[in-house]
Amino acid sequence: MRYLILNLKKEYFQEIKSGAKKEEYRLCTPYWQKRLENKEYDKALIKLGYPKNSEIEKILEFKYLGYEIKTIKHKHFGDDLVKVYSIKLESSIKTCVNCSKVLTEEEIEYYDNFCEYCEGELYQSMLQEEK
Ligand SMILES: [Zn+2]
Repeated sequence: MRYLILNLKKEYFQEIKSGAKKEEYRLCTPYWQKRLENKEYDKALIKLGYPKNSEIEKILEFKYLGYEIKTIKHKHFGDDLVKVYSIKLESSIKTCVNCSKVLTEEEIEYYDNFCEYCEGELYQSMLQEEK
């Protein structure tokens, strides 16, 4: 599995978690060029800060669908137009903590937060936190 990992501040993490934002921007710099251009990933992992792997409520998973280069104005980058990699975060997925199978958002909803492969409960700690 190849992961693209993006570490975010709470404000942007919440926007993506809620589904309000379906892309994440990174400036077109040599740093991101090296990580994105001509690279293939299986998943994009969106992390709230720098969590431990066990802090699953701070990690969102998406199918990696590549990026587009866009010219945008965003408060995070100041008042000027900037060229960015707009990384697509349209397909939310989860990896079962019990059997490691990958499930889509629709499958998770259909099976009411139980894994369709091992029938284990998915992301219990996250569900508890939101109660
Ligand atoms: Zn499972």
